[in-house]
Amino acid sequence: MPIPKAELHLHIEGTLEPELAFALAARNGVELPFADTGELRAAYAFTDLQSFLDLYYGLMAVLRTEEDFAELADAYLARAAAQGVRHAEIFFDPQAHTARGVPMGTVVEGLGRALERSEERHGVSTRLIMCFLRDEPAESALATLREAEPYLHRITGVGLDSAEVGNPPSKFREVYEAAAALGLRRVAHAGEEGPAAYVREALDVLGVERVDHGLRVMEDPGLVERLVRERVPLTLCPLSNVRLRAVDVLAEHPLPRMMAAGLMCTVNSDDPAYFGGYAGDNFTAVRRELDLGDEQLRELARNSFLASFLEDDEERRARYLAEVEAYDFAPTAAVPAGRDPEDPVPAPAASR
Ligand SMILES: [Zn+2]
Repeated sequence: MPIPKAELHLHIEGTLEPELAFALAARNGVELPFADTGELRAAYAFTDLQSFLDLYYGLMAVLRTEEDFAELADAYLARAAAQGVRHAEIFFDPQAHTARGVPMGTVVEGLGRALERSEERHGVSTRLIMCFLRDEPAESALATLREAEPYLHRITGVGLDSAEVGNPPSKFREVYEAAAALGLRRVAHAGEEGPAAYVREALDVLGVERVDHGLRVMEDPGLVERLVRERVPLTLCPLSNVRLRAVDVLAEHPLPRMMAAGLMCTVNSDDPAYFGGYAGDNFTAVRRELDLGDEQLRELARNSFLASFLEDDEERRARYLAEVEAYDFAPTAAVPAGRDPEDPVPAPAASR
């Protein structure tokens, strides 16, 4: 079994595998511009951001009902559990759904239905984080927050995603103040393609408690020093960075340098159906390509639980941390020769 870990940077819409996309399309009478799952799978091999975004938002058309959102989340949780994920803090993009006529309640109640049975079914505890699309106006984010108010019992925090450059964190000052007043936790994507200055803004203007990505903080030594001092977690997504060309090849990823600098790094999957792997796949990839040792993987796993929003359940956090400390990396007789013990067990089919 792979090392226990928390996943803190995961967009549920980015877990839509071709098989489930076709199943939902058939159920909802949505015509997809692909002949079969093989052709759609081939389209997932995009090479640039625009073709990814076109596919990503285009496929969302298959998500219509509460049951669709529940199935999507349930399929993710099954795959995550098989890769050692014990706790998942899941992003969703309400504006991508409300803009095409799907009500907020359908999205949140559908996801919530899967999340509330996740522990029993998959052994994975969960939190839900509502992201605002930063390339939409701040007024739309504020309206989205108001729309979500009846469902806040299901929502732990807010985040900020989509096209970063030209949409600085400060654009969302007001909505983050409103979210804080509602008692919501705050995170934001920053320093992925945008500059390190956006990370400073996310901290100072939005009051974020974690930075999603933060890849470019290494360009600003003063910022690194501050992030280390304040123990601000970064949710890195190595395979995503390669697919979206934030780094050329995984072997050049700054993760080892970031860890050596004392930053609180975590490893996550971002949009795993599109970027070539789930959380365990990312762990396996960084171990192999970046030559990380067992204790560095343990540090990443430990950090993921320390950075989780589990303040309301410290007993659970302590239990997860104990599992991390007790994890034995040594290959056992149960691991077939030639198989990496961190390699995830094969994932179940996405459509049930
Ligand atoms: Zn992301």
